[in-house]
Amino acid sequence: MSRFSGFYKKNRQERIALLQQERSFSQESAEILIQDKNLPESIAGKMTENHLGTFSLPFSVVPEFLLDGQEYSLPMVTEEPSVVAACSFGAKIIGRSGGFHSEILERLMIGQVALYDVPDPQAALEKILAETESILSLANQAHPSIVKRGGGARQIQVDIKDQFLIVYLSVDVLEAMGANILNTMLEGIKDYLEELSQGQALMAILSNYASQSLVTARCRIAISSLGTSAALNRETAKKIALASQLAQVDTYRAATHNKGIFNGIDALVVATGNDWRAVDAGAHAYAARDGQYRGLSTWTLEGDYLLGQMTLPLPIATVGGSIGLNPKVQAVFDILGHPDARTLASLIVATGLCQNFAALRALVTTGIQAGHMKLQAKSLAILAGANEEEADTIAQQLRKEKHTNLETAKQLLAQLRDKEKEA
Ligand code: NDP
Repeated sequence: MSRFSGFYKKNRQERIALLQQERSFSQESAEILIQDKNLPESIAGKMTENHLGTFSLPFSVVPEFLLDGQEYSLPMVTEEPSVVAACSFGAKIIGRSGGFHSEILERLMIGQVALYDVPDPQAALEKILAETESILSLANQAHPSIVKRGGGARQIQVDIKDQFLIVYLSVDVLEAMGANILNTMLEGIKDYLEELSQGQALMAILSNYASQSLVTARCRIAISSLGTSAALNRETAKKIALASQLAQVDTYRAATHNKGIFNGIDALVVATGNDWRAVDAGAHAYAARDGQYRGLSTWTLEGDYLLGQMTLPLPIATVGGSIGLNPKVQAVFDILGHPDARTLASLIVATGLCQNFAALRALVTTGIQAGHMKLQAKSLAILAGANEEEADTIAQQLRKEKHTNLETAKQLLAQLRDKEKEA
């Protein structure tokens, strides 16, 4: 039996205690979780402008998640009911089939200097390429500390697109996401590129299409583990593969397929203090890389197995930005066992694939509403004004009603309170 069985039935303190015991994180992190410590005003007030306060969202955990033979607990920040439960459910099934496996071929961030009014773009392109070494050296001089750490500018590419001559710079940013590193380097080479091309620089900025930071996650699920009936299991597996194919050919489905993937990805990216807009922008660009927007994951049948695979560009960091500032983020890295940026990126892609599996399985069997409405009913009960004791009763009654909405929740709550008065 799993050490985490019945985790969802425990109270918050019991969950933190079990998590601390199993993941051996520090007492300081446990205190941050117990006290639910958020950004202090002294820090939050300096992070953005016109600061009014902080804004909280539910912080949860998927207790067991198997990646590359190592077990993790995944911290998640999301307001959407059923995301954490679905991911935990998917992780359990996939865990029984050996979990997820990841692959990263390279990890470079790309930035660009876009030049215009270049008199002879082809000649300028050749001149710039001939000066590759001096341009890389100039970029490194602009940000010597990353070079000292073992990273730095690695390649340049030049392309002519419409009226623009675009110079792409690839940089090894090590554990950072690299926006500031890249932007500093690009500013550092901009004048020299203008001189070489005889053109004007329109902008010098990082690209969020991190196509040189591709991360792949795979899993191989025994079809027999999909449910309790052999015949139905094969049917479910076949339908999951069909659903994956549908997302390849229909943009309406692809957008929803990918939204489900981001339910998991964003929850983990936000929890780790990373820039989720950067991750989302890059992944959606990748989803449309051949000109049509497609589902990011694929599921295929192979004998008695269902194979899942997803590749994403992932500009993910373990240092920089707001990562070191938020006490909760510190606790998150402690729960995760302090992964490096490559491992964290692999965990994030695998989480998206897991979330996608759980959503597709529900969609082609019971339908997504059954699980969703269970949790939605509880949110509606709370929204209607139910206290902690009343919420479960109202949620249960609400699920039996024809219209699971706020109005019904309010009526049920009024009835419950009337009954209590009478008793
Ligand atoms: P930071 O500039 O905040 O942090 C990176 C710095 O961390 C490095 O320059 C380095 O500085 C230090 N560092 C310490 N240890 C390491 C290590 N092991 N590996 C790498 N660096 C290390 O972050 P980024 O440059 O990564 O930029 C990310 C921020 O930029 C995010 O907040 C993002 O939201 C924001 N941003 C995003 C944009 C976009 O996505 N388009 C645009 C603009 C900003 P040193 O060596 O000097 O100690």
